[in-house]
Amino acid sequence: LLPQRQQNTIMSGPMEQILRLESISRRFKLKNGVFSSDASLFYAVRDVSLVLKDGQTCGLVGESGCGKSTTARMAAGLLEPSSGSVFVCGKDRYSKTQRSKFDPRMVQMVFQDPFSSLNPRMRIGKALEEPLRIACASDGCHASQNELRSAAEKMLEQVGLSPLHYARYPHEFSGGQRQRIAIARALITSPRLLICDEPVSALDASVQAQILNLLKDMRSDSGSACLFISHNLNVVGYMCDFAAVMYFGRIMEQADTDTLFGHPAHPYTRALVEAAPQPDSDAPARALIVGEPPDPANPPSGCPFRPRCPESFSRCSVHCPEETEIAPGHVVRCHLYSRRS
Ligand code: ATP
Repeated sequence: LLPQRQQNTIMSGPMEQILRLESISRRFKLKNGVFSSDASLFYAVRDVSLVLKDGQTCGLVGESGCGKSTTARMAAGLLEPSSGSVFVCGKDRYSKTQRSKFDPRMVQMVFQDPFSSLNPRMRIGKALEEPLRIACASDGCHASQNELRSAAEKMLEQVGLSPLHYARYPHEFSGGQRQRIAIARALITSPRLLICDEPVSALDASVQAQILNLLKDMRSDSGSACLFISHNLNVVGYMCDFAAVMYFGRIMEQADTDTLFGHPAHPYTRALVEAAPQPDSDAPARALIVGEPPDPANPPSGCPFRPRCPESFSRCSVHCPEETEIAPGHVVRCHLYSRRS
């Protein structure tokens, strides 16, 4: 009963675009905004474009509050962009005419806190069966209870739990085990797109590596494309083919992970890489990014990183740089690289 990639009714070609974000922005009301006029709104995400192809894993990194989760929620179909478009397998998630009904084989999410994403009153076996039942129903076929149960039990084994856990409730598991269940639930339908939002940051360090390895193996077995959000560069380097670095709602640099972390071009990425703790070293990370992220109520003119950038010059305060492709697939939003008009 477990859907195989080949059995999926949604056709895919070689390296099909699974996710395309076309210049998406999302504005929210400022907490102290009294009227919902433009003046009381700020951009949590601004002009973000990204393409994720079949089987690829893309990381989204950046400091807290830079817009990673908001981007993930828009990609997942949970939050409508203020402008721009989100395409999943070629379908516009938010088009009024094209809008597809919820299909658990399209997109699934794994959240930071597995407890809040599992229904505390539902046995975990049933929680695993639910997306499968919906997927079968949307194909117009009926799955028997025995088939659903055996698929759920098989999935429990695949994530390192026991079929005997089928009848237990979420509170009867540890945090790491709950995250295994959340991964099983997300992958039981072999979704085309898996979105993981800080999937290990709520777990003990000892469990993090186990869960990351499980995610990596399971994702490669299922063939799902993956958008992987983390503020930990080492984790993104380990999990992802390429990554986008976000700052104050914008993507500042995007490249394959070897290039991005080995030869970062943007001053912000360079600072992040140098400030990241080295996995095999006891040396403390160097805090090289001076100052605070901008205040959304009072954004700086020009480039948002300009007030903290050691390399800023006059042009940086005049307008925000456009994205420039400095090598195939390596895109940077910085006046150091933008072509002068
Ligand atoms: P973290 O790593 O801490 O989770 P993040 O990079 O995921 O941060 P987001 O959660 O996307 O950042 O938030 C981006 C900005 O949007 C923040 O300033 C946040 O306070 C704001 N924000 C997010 N959701 C809402 C909302 N529903 N209403 C108002 N503001 C919001």
